[in-house]
Amino acid sequence: MSSKKSISTRRRFLRQSAAATGFLFVPGLIGCSSGNSPAASESANPAPRRPNEDRKLGIAILGLGGYASGQIAPALKLTEHCELRGLITGSPEKLPEWQSKHGIKEENSYTYDTMDEIADNDEIDVIYVITPTATHRDFAVRAASTGKHVWCEKPMAMDVAECQEMIDACNENGVRLAIGYRMMHEPNTRDLIQLTKENAYGAVTGAHAYAGYGGSPPATDYWRGQRDMGGGALYDMGVYSVNGLRYGTQMAPEAVVKATQTRQDHDNAVDLTTEYTLRYPGGITAEGKTSVVTNYNELHIEAEEGWYEIDPMQPYTGVKGETSDGKILGPPVPNQQSIQMDDDALAIMNDTEFIAPGELGLKDIAVIRAIIESAESGQEVAIQHQG
Ligand code: NAD
Repeated sequence: MSSKKSISTRRRFLRQSAAATGFLFVPGLIGCSSGNSPAASESANPAPRRPNEDRKLGIAILGLGGYASGQIAPALKLTEHCELRGLITGSPEKLPEWQSKHGIKEENSYTYDTMDEIADNDEIDVIYVITPTATHRDFAVRAASTGKHVWCEKPMAMDVAECQEMIDACNENGVRLAIGYRMMHEPNTRDLIQLTKENAYGAVTGAHAYAGYGGSPPATDYWRGQRDMGGGALYDMGVYSVNGLRYGTQMAPEAVVKATQTRQDHDNAVDLTTEYTLRYPGGITAEGKTSVVTNYNELHIEAEEGWYEIDPMQPYTGVKGETSDGKILGPPVPNQQSIQMDDDALAIMNDTEFIAPGELGLKDIAVIRAIIESAESGQEVAIQHQG
């Protein structure tokens, strides 16, 4: 049986058995501790949660670097609907330690040279691409061609054309594509999103999103210090501000009014900080800034009758928020990545929408490219692909 066929068979089986048992998965509920989470408030009678130990997707991590080892592999252990079953690496010397630490079989371990063979491995449902940004397109397209669903880390890719290639490859192979925007799954952030959706403080009149960390300029022999690998503040951290302004305002920007960047002084230099102003239909503007040498971390929404904010907006733990009339959004959840992966697993099993599909990642990359163009030209730049 081909892998693509086995996936669609499995998806059909999962849908049929969900219908047969009367059990309906509700994306967004998993891991949401706060009773007033958006997902919970969307349904007066949310479906009961039951243990479904047999309903786990097999995940293969592609790229065994810092985020994979420090966050995603541990988070997978906390999920209800995922299981780490496969490894794909360009550094096979890492495999023995990963295999023994996570109980991964030798036959589920691949290198970049052998990864296409994963097509015949029915234990793997999803390949999670966690490599430098400039490699996302190629790895995601190869992953899709194996007939496995693709999860890809943020930022989605280097430009809109690459994002589109990834989307097309997944469509052509009948698999799904989600972007690892963990904040969009984080319950306090989802509470803030719900305030905007409900116009709880009136219409949005402005916003700012600042996402940066105070460190040394990235080393030039490491991909984060290399512009052509997708390093620099705007791709790495700025994507949180761009994405945060989108979910915080629930609006799509039409133009970058202005942008400035400070760069290291060498060939292939990355931006250390980027500041930008977006304009939305109706003339509303929002400010964004991002940095890899200065610490700031907040998403603030101004509305006609008040304000609300998340501060800090994107650490792994400790996200919390408040409103102008004293409501506190919280408490922070212990692990965002496990919620993200369970949400995405459920969306695959139930054939429902991802919270952060590839099409959304593409829109944010379009904004990032327009910010770069505006910084380089000193001109206002219209933003495409927001429809
Ligand atoms: P890292 O440098 O720690 O690891 C990168 C891994 O990719 C390494 O295992 C490396 O060997 C491998 N790799 C594959 N092709 C490579 C190439 N051509 N050059 C260099 N390395 C290559 O990086 P990381 O922090 O794990 O980041 C990986 C991805 O995860 C990036 O897209 C990053 O933006 C994303 N990330 C997301 C979050 C989040 O909170 N969602 C946090 C950190 C990183």
